Amino acid sequence: MDVPGDLLREAVEVIGNAYAPYSGLRVAAAVRGASGRIYRGVNVENSSYGLTVCAERVAVFNAVTNGEREIVEVLIVSTSRMPIPPCGACLQVLSEFAKPDTRIYSVSLPTKQARMWRLGELMPEAFRLDKALPSHRGGESNKPSSQGGSPVL
Ligand SMILES: [Zn+2]
Repeated sequence: MDVPGDLLREAVEVIGNAYAPYSGLRVAAAVRGASGRIYRGVNVENSSYGLTVCAERVAVFNAVTNGEREIVEVLIVSTSRMPIPPCGACLQVLSEFAKPDTRIYSVSLPTKQARMWRLGELMPEAFRLDKALPSHRGGESNKPSSQGGSPVL
């Protein structure tokens, strides 16, 4: 399977900087902003496990810090023997800045296996605050729609 070569090179270049002394799982992500520029991130673990931040979120926050508001392509490399998808938290963050058809590539460094998913496959119903708010807050109406589920009361 073909993966975007420039994203792969950028991610491989920084995976050695991943800080993963607890899990030993090193991850790097490269995301392409709408401007075409590429932003990178690595996983940064912490003694207090819950403070660990994934490579994907670091890369997205790096893009936003540099003025991007849209992510058009994502690539992950890791030392896992399987191509790993983003975790749920990263999928939610990606959903803020990427479209459902955005490609997410993942490459295993040890096995060279690659996979590709669309964001919408992995996160079909991301939380959207604008959809959740009452209509008087200026968001879309929150009355049940085709996506709103069936009435139970
Ligand atoms: Zn994650």
